[in-house]
Amino acid sequence: MAKVIFDKERCKGCGLCETVCPKKIIALEKEEINQKGYHPAGVTDESACIGCGSCAIMCPDTVIKVER
Ligand code: SF4
Ligand code: SF4
Repeated sequence: MAKVIFDKERCKGCGLCETVCPKKIIALEKEEINQKGYHPAGVTDESACIGCGSCAIMCPDTVIKVER
């Protein structure tokens, strides 16, 4: 199973990763606020991740790492 790791404190909550995930399992964590003052992105159902890496490629700030 792929593992998706977010460097949450560096996320700017732009939501780009959310738009490209083919499994629609990325969402901004509305309950959380990081040091920059944004809702950071996270994975809602890691077991559904296919490890495609699209989220990591899309992130303008290289916040995401996908391990396969
Ligand atoms: S690796 Fe692919 S399937 Fe997994 S969270 Fe990122 S975009 Fe979604
Ligand atoms: S694309 Fe990067 S900066 Fe934007 S919400 Fe996703 S993880 Fe955060």
